[in-house]
Amino acid sequence: MCYDVIIIGAGPGGIFSAYELVQNNPGMKIAVFEAGHALSKRRCPIDGDKVKSCIGCKSCSIMSGFGGAGAFSDGKYNITNDFGGTLYEYIGKQKALELMRYVDEINMRYGGEGTKLYSTAGTRFKTVCIQNDLHLLDASVRHLGTDINYVVLENLYAYLKDKVEFFFDTPVQSVDVLEEGYRIHTAGDAYDCKNCIISVGRSGSKWMEKICKDLDIPTRSNRVDIGVRVELPAAVFAHLTDELYESKIVYRTRQYEDLVRTFCMNPKGAVVNENTNGIITVNGHSYEDPAKQTDNTNFALLVAKHFSEPFKDSNGYGESIAKLSNMLGGGVIVQRFGDLIRGHRSTPSRIAEAFVTPTLSATPGDLSLVLPKRILDGIIEMIYALDKVAPGTANDDTLLYGVEVKFYNMEVEVDDQLQSRHKGLYIIGDGSGITHSLSHASASGVHVARSISAN
Ligand SMILES: Cc1cc2nc3c(=O)[nH]c(=O)nc-3n(C[C@H](O)[C@H](O)[C@H](O)COP(=O)(O)OP(=O)(O)OC[C@H]3O[C@@H](n4cnc5c(N)ncnc54)[C@H](O)[C@@H]3O)c2cc1C
Repeated sequence: MCYDVIIIGAGPGGIFSAYELVQNNPGMKIAVFEAGHALSKRRCPIDGDKVKSCIGCKSCSIMSGFGGAGAFSDGKYNITNDFGGTLYEYIGKQKALELMRYVDEINMRYGGEGTKLYSTAGTRFKTVCIQNDLHLLDASVRHLGTDINYVVLENLYAYLKDKVEFFFDTPVQSVDVLEEGYRIHTAGDAYDCKNCIISVGRSGSKWMEKICKDLDIPTRSNRVDIGVRVELPAAVFAHLTDELYESKIVYRTRQYEDLVRTFCMNPKGAVVNENTNGIITVNGHSYEDPAKQTDNTNFALLVAKHFSEPFKDSNGYGESIAKLSNMLGGGVIVQRFGDLIRGHRSTPSRIAEAFVTPTLSATPGDLSLVLPKRILDGIIEMIYALDKVAPGTANDDTLLYGVEVKFYNMEVEVDDQLQSRHKGLYIIGDGSGITHSLSHASASGVHVARSISAN
């Protein structure tokens, strides 16, 4: 079987490259290989009743399948170069923003119309933050919400399914470089193509490392972000979230001068488990539909760590910390802020008596036994700093879930077309280590599709 383009991975990067290829080249022969299920078959078995925590499915429906890691996400498309990836370093700031806006237009056309676009432009909170030693980053954020994000994916699939050949539950095992083009191998078959786009996301990080070794593609170690997910009554952050929806706030700790930042804010949302290569960490999302909203807001507080010499394995460091929390808690640990400050382990009764009701069933425990002192000290310092702009953040009953780890793939060497040293082999999205968000991953997909169309 020979295709013009084979796309490996059907996350936002893969979907938007397929979309743009179809738009620019009607009749082009395109195949998408996806390790996970079709969108309609993606279902995480955790129901909070019979299945309370992760059972380690062969293909994790949260991370894999049509829509990628973003399918059940909050659908926050941040249009900014300030965070979410470094795509602008390859294609320029203006182009990166243009592509993110283009992706936003498509999302609006495919079911997202009517959703709100928030912006930090002109907000008075910037001043309030600076006055309290906190820094609000600039962004426009389109909040689709988990429910509308799903509708957009359904519509994009309906549009693509007759124009592109989809192979679900079909992980690609290896890629060979041919004299002209590429051959990909699945469990039982082999397929050839002229151009190959690899967009395997974070769940494909180990596979990506192997492919880079096999094909002699240079890589660089990336950072890892480690921290906790904070959950508190929605009223505490309502003045910020009502205006901005999500605020990315950075704080430099006095003790170590480390940067701690808020990440992935989910007003009236829920805390969820995340499974990366069998390690259970924590994440969060929220719904646009008021009927599905909760009384709590959650967000992550993260500290970035980057190792280079002599130890290079930043992800390995993050994995070890997450494994420790899995070992002590059987999964994610939850602790009241008051218990953490007083050096107590949280117990089921202390959690049950708290005024904040957890939205995730996690094991009450002690995060100080898991997180390195430097990271934990930074997080505690930031909670007190946030308390000045959002009084109530440092309340005893504020819940901390750990650990939250943001793994980044090692950065793959590509040129300004996101093409590797092999002509026609493109590496995009979170799998390239260049992006780590829905908007940047999608924009990288549009960018390669246009490069292929122009060649
Ligand atoms: C719970 C959660 C909430 C999030 N919320 C947000 C948010 O609100 N805003 C935001 O900007 N970002 C969010 N993110 C991050 C966002 O989802 C990712 O940045 C984005 O999905 C990256 O897109 P991608 O296409 O590069 O990779 P992915 O979405 O990870 O897709 C890669 C796909 O490749 C497949 N794959 C992997 N290996 C192979 C292989 N060997 N063969 C075939 N297929 C393979 C995987 O199954 C997967 O479906 C969230 C992530 C999670 C997990």
